[in-house]
Amino acid sequence: MWHRVAGRRERPIPYTATVAAPTDVLTDKLAGFGTTIFAEMSALAVETGAINLGQGFPDTDGPVEVLDAAVDAIRSGVNQYGPGLGHPELRQAIAEHQHRWFGLDIDPDTEVVVTAGATEALAAAMLGMLDAGDEVIVFEPMYDSYQAGIALAAASPVPVLLQPDADGVWRFDADGLRAAVTERTKLILLNTPHNPTGKVFDRDELDTIASVAIEHDLIVVTDEVYEHLVFDGSAHVPIATLPDMFERTLTISSGGKTFHTTGWKIGWMTGPNELVTAARMAKQYLTFVNGAPFQPATAVGLRLGDDYFTGLRDNLQTARDHLTDGLGRAGFTTYRPAAGYFVTVDITPVAPDLDGMTFCRELPQRAGVVAVPESAFYMHPENGDRFVRFAFCKQLPIIDAAVDQLVEAFG
Ligand code: PMP
Ligand code: GLN
Repeated sequence: MWHRVAGRRERPIPYTATVAAPTDVLTDKLAGFGTTIFAEMSALAVETGAINLGQGFPDTDGPVEVLDAAVDAIRSGVNQYGPGLGHPELRQAIAEHQHRWFGLDIDPDTEVVVTAGATEALAAAMLGMLDAGDEVIVFEPMYDSYQAGIALAAASPVPVLLQPDADGVWRFDADGLRAAVTERTKLILLNTPHNPTGKVFDRDELDTIASVAIEHDLIVVTDEVYEHLVFDGSAHVPIATLPDMFERTLTISSGGKTFHTTGWKIGWMTGPNELVTAARMAKQYLTFVNGAPFQPATAVGLRLGDDYFTGLRDNLQTARDHLTDGLGRAGFTTYRPAAGYFVTVDITPVAPDLDGMTFCRELPQRAGVVAVPESAFYMHPENGDRFVRFAFCKQLPIIDAAVDQLVEAFG
């Protein structure tokens, strides 16, 4: 999966050829990683004035109670380093949240750590748990920081491919998952609900993953940042709730998606003390602590009534439908997502001769829209060449305008 070029270890195909990495200085561990696809595509949107359906961030503010709580915290002096584990109020609110929504009993003093977004929790988990040469099973496509976090820990990702079935539901081959386990496998990195596909791993799939983890004594690290954004009456099932799974699962989430505060970077990890501590050991040397006034504000958000969470989900489901239906009218093959912020399309019907990267680089000129090529989410980018991701965490008039432009360009 890795090969050496001129003595350096490189990813098979760097996806950001535009970025000249300082190769004489850069650690071998990051050889082949360029600037992230999100930064590249958001810069393209700014440069061209195109509608940005690339990077996943909402274009409206979240609940006013949460914003006010942050302002109050700043004004009342919550502006210095806080406790290493995170603000006690937020840790308590996280524990309450896990109980209220998922029936999990978490000790806020020993089984919760607040992090600089889910991103830091993921990196800390990899750095705190992995040794050089360890293997991590990942489902691909995967959120881009996973490969980098694993690489920084000098470990190796081992991909299990998700592919759409005849009904357009993304599935993995259970035998492929079992075959991916070797004596070097240390953990399985799961993401449900899933970015970029919007897949919600169902109970049978989670049972399969859990049985593999238990049989081979693996840790599961699960990224659940889209936990509240599940559509069509389905439910998110945390793998930590399955029998015998809590003790081997580190669950990661954050407030960015749920409270429209992606720039605050307040995340957390929960799980048995042994796992949380391993990740915390790395986390304390990455940021030590972060975002003091945003922590009590995020606690206010987590304690909002059910209406807030269901309203957020319902509005997003409407946006999902506008965008998915519109992309279908423009001629793309669409995979209606069951959750999250994004819809994946196959560009073959509208651009049979282009790969997704070229298509996305040309899209601002052709249609005044920015999207993200999913090849960036694969270890072998050719597996994702046909797939492009559009974000629908935007106001309906923006989505509708983007759809009009895409229909005009391709429909
Ligand atoms: N995991 C997934 C699957 C994501 O889509 C994102 C992007 N928001 C993150 C982690 C990062 O979350 P945060 O902004 O809280 O670091
Ligand atoms: N999670 C968001 C996405 O997938 C943004 C991530 C980022 O900018 N690093 O688009």
